[in-house]
Amino acid sequence: MRHVTVLGATGSIGLNTLDVIGRHPDRFDVFALTACRQVDSMLSLCQRFRPRYAVMAEPSAALELAERLPEEAGVEVLAGTEGLEAVASSPDCDTVMAAIVGAAGLAPTLAAVRSGKRVLLANKEALVMSGRLFMDAVAESGAELLPIDSEHNAIFQCLPPGQSRDLPGAGVRRILLTASGGPFRETSAEALQQVTPDQACAHPNWSMGQKISVDSATLMNKGLELIEACWLFDTRPDQVEVHVHPESIIHSMVEYVDGSVLAQLGSPDMRTPIANGLAWPERIDAGVDSLNLFDIGRFHFERPDLERFPCLRLASEAFRLGGTAPAVLNAANEEAVAAFLRGELGFTGIPAVIESVMASIATVPADEFPVIFEKDRESRARSAEQIRHHAVSVSGLG
Ligand code: NDP
Repeated sequence: MRHVTVLGATGSIGLNTLDVIGRHPDRFDVFALTACRQVDSMLSLCQRFRPRYAVMAEPSAALELAERLPEEAGVEVLAGTEGLEAVASSPDCDTVMAAIVGAAGLAPTLAAVRSGKRVLLANKEALVMSGRLFMDAVAESGAELLPIDSEHNAIFQCLPPGQSRDLPGAGVRRILLTASGGPFRETSAEALQQVTPDQACAHPNWSMGQKISVDSATLMNKGLELIEACWLFDTRPDQVEVHVHPESIIHSMVEYVDGSVLAQLGSPDMRTPIANGLAWPERIDAGVDSLNLFDIGRFHFERPDLERFPCLRLASEAFRLGGTAPAVLNAANEEAVAAFLRGELGFTGIPAVIESVMASIATVPADEFPVIFEKDRESRARSAEQIRHHAVSVSGLG
């Protein structure tokens, strides 16, 4: 029996994780659930899964949850980052799904890593921000880090067991990282200036949270995934080639030196990689239908267009710069995407803000976590200025 903490339980990945867990009560028991402020959703999850702890990152939401939860539910409510870290590192849990969105997930995910848990990593931003320090913490604690991002989970499945960080030893020539291309794959550069948050969040193949949906539309998601792949599989960016594959059926591929290319295929449903991580190395039913290749018929591939989608280029540059540059990129992206979703910044303003923030902040070695958190703060402050500047330019007053 695995005792699971789900960080970000009310989100898209969190709910898919609980769907898989709910199918296997003999294998998984929910130790803790966490969210930020969605009390209604957390209340119903607590009533269904009866965790030992429920954590709300927002203290006022924790108070409301504690008031509304009936005592007989037997759920203890905790609040804030300390609560998140406590349930991620408790000796009574052995498996942590890291599915908080954005930089807010770093501290609790790290708490799970440092306590040597099986960590199912969906929260790619945590790894992008802190790369080497994060992977060093995994090595020191002996945590079992399993990728949940569908592409990285596919690569993991295509590599020989135990050799996911020894690609030369495994005879790997390169990784083919697939990308759907997002909802604006065929939209002209001019039309991109007018796209709305609703259009950006309407992903053609996947149903996901708002932030990753916008990241998929700008291709920043692929940029973050490129960095994630380099850290997870201890490889260089020039060994990872992005292939736009609009059908989202091949989730990524690994090419070996003998010319063999192994691919992992499946319907675009996150329950597949989640079930793979939860039960690894066994296979369990994820509730996912069989793949019908007759209906799909054809697969297509194209190169990403870095002119219309500069975010992928910006992420590669941040990784090449190293040190704190990826943390600066990540924070600027989070702020720019939030401003776009609030209607304060145009879609093409997202890469413009990130590029100017990156140019204005010096890159220093990322050799301790406080340095990374400081650069994250600096990047957010600089982004707020840039977002104001771009909003004024767009309204014609600047
Ligand atoms: P959602 O926006 O759907 O859910 C985010 C979750 O994080 C919610 O439970 C939310 O709580 C919680 N949360 C938000 N802010 C905070 C905070 N400051 N402190 C603590 N908890 C917080 O996101 P997704 O499920 O789409 O994505 C989660 C992560 O997984 C992201 O890093 C994403 O890149 C990655 N991922 C997602 C995929 C997908 O298919 N969705 C695919 C691959 C990776 P509340 O509901 O209360 O706000």
